[in-house]
Amino acid sequence: MTSWEENVLKVVPYVPGEQPKEKDIIKLNTNENPYPPSPKVEKVIKDFDVEVLRKYPDPEALDLVRALAKAYQMPEDQIFVGVGSDDVLAMSFLTFFHGEKPILFPDITYSFYDVWANEFEIPFETKPLNENFEIVKEDYFGENGGIVIPNPNAPTGLACSVSQLEEIVKANPSSVVIIDEAYGDFNGESMLPLVEKYENLLVVMTFSKSRSLAGSRIGFAFGSKKLISYLKDVKYSFNSYTMDSLTIQIGKASLEDEEYFTNCVEKIVETREWTKEKLLELGFSFPASKTNFIFATHKSAKAEDIFEYLKSKKIFVRYFKKPRIDNYLRISIGTKEEMEALIKELKAYL
Ligand code: PMP
Repeated sequence: MTSWEENVLKVVPYVPGEQPKEKDIIKLNTNENPYPPSPKVEKVIKDFDVEVLRKYPDPEALDLVRALAKAYQMPEDQIFVGVGSDDVLAMSFLTFFHGEKPILFPDITYSFYDVWANEFEIPFETKPLNENFEIVKEDYFGENGGIVIPNPNAPTGLACSVSQLEEIVKANPSSVVIIDEAYGDFNGESMLPLVEKYENLLVVMTFSKSRSLAGSRIGFAFGSKKLISYLKDVKYSFNSYTMDSLTIQIGKASLEDEEYFTNCVEKIVETREWTKEKLLELGFSFPASKTNFIFATHKSAKAEDIFEYLKSKKIFVRYFKKPRIDNYLRISIGTKEEMEALIKELKAYL
């Protein structure tokens, strides 16, 4: 190793799901929404005045924050926005997990958490999910430097009840508790109402899944005034102009089309339930998904083999070669036609 390399921060990076370049792929591997964003978003893009790009964007993204305030009935100073919820979460780790005690999160969860913890040198401990992949709330009652839990969890798709999560928040007045609701819109239950009650609770959400805007990178969080203010201080000391001018307007337009949003979520939930029935018929089992994906295992066929077979048929799903979950496939919910194609190929294979 040359001498300068000794001073390099070395990290094992997060590996996102594959983004194949071919067009004729059925892509069920990164939990994207199969439907396009709202027509109101399309209009904003078509009408966008490029002259605006001459200037820096509004660092506070106020147009978007105001639209969020209206849509979620929250005061503007309790809202934080970022470039995808990955950005919001990374900033939150940096801001709130600055102590000496280990932060806690489940052993099977979003695989970015340990990457950030390592990158920011935050000590962490993982708490094993039980044999049904459920969170054991008591595991989070001891001393810790912070907690992050996705609800519903990924890649399992299972949701924990708001009342159980509230017990965790209540038991940890000395830690910030982050609830990552990336898939919350498919669940129908949110921790958001509890933000008023607990100063240490941060609820993080995204436009990537339920609002079909993964490509625009918009994430947001709700918390107490104090939490949001600390978060903004760190963000503005890192990079103040992260969200571009067009994206701010895209997010605003999406929020102004509640009907389209609700309709898309309903269609996905309906297709998810249909897919569950078909998978059961084929000998698969899975935790009760409350998300836009199903985490399925087969009674006899190996997940890795099914994954390879589907790939050869141009159907991409996600496979994690990791302890406890290496015989599972995470299958995102596409359109009904895409799911029919998947079921047909699974039948052929099995
Ligand atoms: N949290 C969870 C649990 C996720 O699965 C994802 C998607 N990879 C994210 C956060 C980040 O999503 P985004 O940055 O697109 O908002």
